[in-house]
Amino acid sequence: MLVLLERGLGESSIGDIATRLRMFGLSIHRTDHGGQARIGAVGENAGVDWGAVRAWPGVASVEKLPAPFKLVSRAFHPHDTIISVGRCAIGSRQLAIMAGPCSVEGEEQAFTIAAAVARAGATIMRGGAYKPRTSPYSFQGLGEEGLKLLRRAADANGLAVVSEVMDSQHVPLVARYADILQVGARNMQNYALLKEVGHAEKPVLLKRGLAATIEEWLMSAEHIVSQGNTQVVLCERGIRTFETYTRNTLDLNAIPVVKELSHLPVIVDPSHGTGIRNKVGPMARASIAAGADGLIVEVHHDPDHALSDGAQSLYPEQFEELVGQIRTIAGVLGRTA
Ligand code: PEP
Ligand code: MN
Repeated sequence: MLVLLERGLGESSIGDIATRLRMFGLSIHRTDHGGQARIGAVGENAGVDWGAVRAWPGVASVEKLPAPFKLVSRAFHPHDTIISVGRCAIGSRQLAIMAGPCSVEGEEQAFTIAAAVARAGATIMRGGAYKPRTSPYSFQGLGEEGLKLLRRAADANGLAVVSEVMDSQHVPLVARYADILQVGARNMQNYALLKEVGHAEKPVLLKRGLAATIEEWLMSAEHIVSQGNTQVVLCERGIRTFETYTRNTLDLNAIPVVKELSHLPVIVDPSHGTGIRNKVGPMARASIAAGADGLIVEVHHDPDHALSDGAQSLYPEQFEELVGQIRTIAGVLGRTA
């Protein structure tokens, strides 16, 4: 339920109301909008007499939050969530440009690509150190060594870091090096992992599952936010369809749909969304035109020898040209990149 408090109500009265709601066994989440405190009271609330709550002093009204997602809904939190990471405010008018290799492969590779993407205009460097690979015989990532390299390469170029965490036990380790914890498509419904990143003090980039509906994706975000971590960035990265000419089918419908349903920022990964280098640019441009808050793009200086996803990685020059085009499109929309 959404409990709207009277405008200008003092902090101690707000605290009292929150305490009383907690006594019903509900979990309490607060957001403020237009000078009014809004309390999201969630959980199994059988037996609560909401008519009585409505009459409590300080309570202006009580409304039902839409089903099934609550804390991530715009009904609870009407304004856009903005997440500050390094020089970037994700979800603001400034687009978030994240780029880097699929996997961190070594020092020279990480530093070369970091310098290239920084020069082109990225503010956040991507790179996997723990890789979810379809084959157990493919490169699985450099682990902590990869995180160290990524951090150093990013720092040397003034970039923040996003990297995937695959295992709930690795959350503290990845959080030590990365500014954003990426939950990959294959783990979108790994609820133990969602719970753990929900307790982390770092923003989470939640990719859409390979076969997840928008509702399932938002419910996964709800798992994270309900644990207390409100800093969730959604990432559309393509879904499985019957189409075989592209690796995935990038669902650009999801952008305006999510924007309406949720206050969370949504970015697009056109690299995994298409799987094909020369399709990345068109879909990146379309994503921004459709209202995405940013992009995460795979870039490699020597993609023919990349240890993962070389076929969908842009050359640094292509990425630089793309960022220029993205800036033009951003301008048309009153945004910057
Ligand atoms: C990745 O970002 O390299 C990755 C594995 O992405 P996804 O989880 O979307 O497949
Ligand atoms: Mn990849």
